[in-house]
Amino acid sequence: MKTKICHKCTEEHTTLFRIQIQRKGPWVFVCETCCLHYKKGPFYRYGGTWKGYRH
Ligand SMILES: [Zn+2]
Repeated sequence: MKTKICHKCTEEHTTLFRIQIQRKGPWVFVCETCCLHYKKGPFYRYGGTWKGYRH
C-alpha cells in the first residue's frame, strides 16, 4: 500500500484529494480532514482522488 503526505497536516494517508486552494495556485494533495477545512475557502477546486491501494 502506498501513502502520500498531506500538504496541510504532513501525515501519511492512503487516500488523498487533489485540490486547489489558491486562485491559480498549485494543485496539492490533502487528506479528507484537511480537504473539508479547505472546502470553505473561496478558491477551492477539486481535481480528483488519489488512492494508494489497488483492488
Ligand atoms: Zn491532512
